[in-house]
Amino acid sequence: MSDPLVRLIGELSRLPGIGPKTATRLAHYLLKAPAAEAQALAQAMVEVKEKLFYCSLCNSITAVDPCRYCSNPERDRARICVVEEPYNIEPIERTGEFHGLYHVLLGALSPHRGIGPDRLAIQGLFERLEGIEEIVVATNPNVEGEATALYLARLLKARGVRVTRLAFGMPVGGDIEYTDEVTLGRSLAGRREM
Ligand SMILES: [Zn+2]
Repeated sequence: MSDPLVRLIGELSRLPGIGPKTATRLAHYLLKAPAAEAQALAQAMVEVKEKLFYCSLCNSITAVDPCRYCSNPERDRARICVVEEPYNIEPIERTGEFHGLYHVLLGALSPHRGIGPDRLAIQGLFERLEGIEEIVVATNPNVEGEATALYLARLLKARGVRVTRLAFGMPVGGDIEYTDEVTLGRSLAGRREM
């Protein structure tokens, strides 16, 4: 493993969605690319690890704590939208339909992959319920997202919190990440009581 090219291929193939073939192609591309290009990529990778972290309140990705959503006085503090991953926030923001706060679970329930509630950032959500009028559950419309939504709704409703779920006109088994802005906006606007 001391061969730098073998090492690079090995590291690249650990990335999600990158198999050995793609890793090899990328490694050879970088080998041919100008040194500055490869350095810019390496630098960008180091910087995301050095400069970014999870917001201590909502778990979104941020360079300042609390993040720009949690610290924004113009956001509606009576509403929290719950998502699975930090990258689910941006598509929801782009719809312009939601002006509240966020809470990122950092995953979804998946019994067959051994991911139970203890593996998700649920506790932090329960610590934020004071003054909350609505929790909008925007987990993905797939088996895991639905299981997570039902689990949260049961606990939250037991605490007297109103829980809504996106009215997904989006394909079942789909992902918020790949849902177009118009559909996602409609899903948010037409959200229903759970
Ligand atoms: Zn935050």
